[in-house]
Amino acid sequence: MRDTAGGPRVLLRRLRELMAEALEPQERLDRIVREIAQNMVAEVCSLYVLRADSMLELYATEGLNPGSVHLAQLRLGQGLVGTIAASARPLNLSDAQKHPAFAYLPETGEEIYHSFLGVPVLRAGRTLGVLVVQNRTMRHYREDEVEALETVAMVIAEMIATGDLARLTRPGIELDMSRPVSLNGLPFNEGVGLGHVVLHEPRIVVTALFNEDSDEELQRLETALDSLRLSIDNMLSRRDVAFEGEHRAVLEAYRMFANDRGWVRRLQEAVNNGLTAEAAVEKVQSDMRARMLHMTDPYLRERMSDFDDLANRLLRQLMGRGPDALAEIVPKDAIIVARSMGAAELLDYPRQKLRGLVLEEGAPTSHIVIVARAIGLPTVGQVKGAVSMSENGDAIIVDGEDGQVHLRPQGDVEAAYAEKVRFRARRQKHYQELRDEPSETKDGVHIDMMMNAGLAVDLPQLAQSGADGIGLFRTELQFMVAAAFPRVEAQERLYREVLDAADGKPVTFRTIDIGGDKVLPYFKDSHNEENPALGWRAIRLTLDRPGLLRTQIRALLKAAGGRELRMMLPMVTEVAEVRQARAVIDREVRHLSRFAHHLPTRLKLGAMIEVPSLLWQLDELMQAVDFVSVGSNDLFQFVTATDRGNTRIADRFDPLSVPFLRLLRQIVKAGEASGTPVTLCGELAGRSVSAMALLGIGYRSISMAPAAIGPVKAMLRELPLHELSALMEEALAKHSASTDIRALLRQFAESRDIPL
Ligand code: PEP
Ligand code: MG
Repeated sequence: MRDTAGGPRVLLRRLRELMAEALEPQERLDRIVREIAQNMVAEVCSLYVLRADSMLELYATEGLNPGSVHLAQLRLGQGLVGTIAASARPLNLSDAQKHPAFAYLPETGEEIYHSFLGVPVLRAGRTLGVLVVQNRTMRHYREDEVEALETVAMVIAEMIATGDLARLTRPGIELDMSRPVSLNGLPFNEGVGLGHVVLHEPRIVVTALFNEDSDEELQRLETALDSLRLSIDNMLSRRDVAFEGEHRAVLEAYRMFANDRGWVRRLQEAVNNGLTAEAAVEKVQSDMRARMLHMTDPYLRERMSDFDDLANRLLRQLMGRGPDALAEIVPKDAIIVARSMGAAELLDYPRQKLRGLVLEEGAPTSHIVIVARAIGLPTVGQVKGAVSMSENGDAIIVDGEDGQVHLRPQGDVEAAYAEKVRFRARRQKHYQELRDEPSETKDGVHIDMMMNAGLAVDLPQLAQSGADGIGLFRTELQFMVAAAFPRVEAQERLYREVLDAADGKPVTFRTIDIGGDKVLPYFKDSHNEENPALGWRAIRLTLDRPGLLRTQIRALLKAAGGRELRMMLPMVTEVAEVRQARAVIDREVRHLSRFAHHLPTRLKLGAMIEVPSLLWQLDELMQAVDFVSVGSNDLFQFVTATDRGNTRIADRFDPLSVPFLRLLRQIVKAGEASGTPVTLCGELAGRSVSAMALLGIGYRSISMAPAAIGPVKAMLRELPLHELSALMEEALAKHSASTDIRALLRQFAESRDIPL
């Protein structure tokens, strides 16, 4: 290739004209490849498009045998073209036939060409095809020529993505772009959602690709980069950076990237080649993303996400578009797809339009997931590639039961899920009907069905679920979604709101349970423990920081003025902790009564049983408190030495095993003997089979997520409890700790038509 005929700017102008002309797609494509070949003084220019069956099909060519168009094809990874597509990197060869990957396609007649330059056609980091130029002479294409061909490839990517080329595909064959994809993740919140993709922090669709005047465009880019840098500096100087979900270190990294010379230079080059500043950002980002996709180093991949965010911010600067515009374009069945997001950001979306949430990251205990669960949104997390595989508006299904996500699902998958949703809706209706029925077993034993809550958004569920009260109010959630420690007034306001909503039904407030996996970004003291689950957390922490505990107790006492107040202490290890906490409470009561505050009519103090040491001091504990509540999540974690957040071992041991059930029974018996009310508020209470086991060993009060109330109630209303109690008594008494209790319970339920 000699000197280029007019350079990339002229070529881009020609392409723009071709795109605007009323041409049939094939004709347009033919003219495009001819234009590229001429401009780049190449004898050959060919475009290969990636199909859903992983074949790269020749869609147009200038120079190769025209009869091979739509016939010649290579597998992904096969030949030079397949290698480029698989690696998402250009290949620049002076003698193509010497390359080990070279594959000869006789129908094309390409044997006479030696030099070869191929670039991937990329969009948002996804490979859609390959664009190639070839020359007879052996030559090495210059860097600026590679850059120019990549720029052209980006224009072609838009044509593919907008569906222009789909019209050229043979019947029954699909382009990769529209291929149905099923992705596996982890189920974070149950339920099934059908709807359409809304990319959170969406890749802004750049429509103006070509610039009129490079100098002017460079100026725009510079201005946008300046305001981007300024906005990052501003963010860094804010006190509440943590609230934005980005820690300071990340923002510092952003600042570094925004000043990264290589990045800025590549952006400028793309503008010099004729792209608009927006298209330049998109192009540089796409190239970078495609390259990084193949990297396994988690540190580098994480840096990629930072660049992604940065590019999005820059695009928004350039297009003058704030996040407000987002809410308006949300469809009525939106499924949010995000890499990760802050809890507050989710609440910005109109709740009634949301059908599900898909996260590339996230953990069952991350804030966003807690909030998603609170508002009952089917959620799947840890779905790798979800963002780059989706386009805004794509049909999508989220299965929060088995952790699957189906993008652009085929008809039969969609039909199966629509049926699943209808089935769930029918079941939901049945639960609704049960709502006002008494929660009594078939043989007439009343069970207290309580719900767990933690945020104001949970409150409407109290009436909707028909729960008898709130058995566990996790007060730390308010602290977790806040930017800084909530002030006493904010705490009091929330507690009052909760008690008002409960309208006389009992509410048990648990004092802040932070530490462990519940980290407050603004509370630096609690970070960096080697073994946080066993560390400085919950009551240990609040007894050491009495200011924190006092403030909360004061807020609770004031909010409950004239009503009953139930408080519960998390992670108690020894009875002395209860006494110390009681001393703090007494002091606050004295303080408030000195100032003639309206005090609660009655005060009840309870302890959570989560640490095994309490099992050998149950009598003393029950003397010291008004009630106890078993936190089976933590108790099981500590009894079996199994990290509750570690998905690798999450299912390894079964809480419905003889030893653990014997232990739970021991607690309930101690309660009966001392006349101390016992309840259980861990996840065990919320699954029908395990709830059945709990009732069978003597529990008469259980507290669970609101969505579980219906199914558990449906189960217990059909349950002959006395019969089950006898069965459990026998199973736990036997000299076999390995009896399969789960199977026993299932059999029992099946033979008596008990819905599980
Ligand atoms: C538990 O440990 O069972 C419990 C209810 O508390 P949390 O899940 O909030 O730790
Ligand atoms: Mg706990």
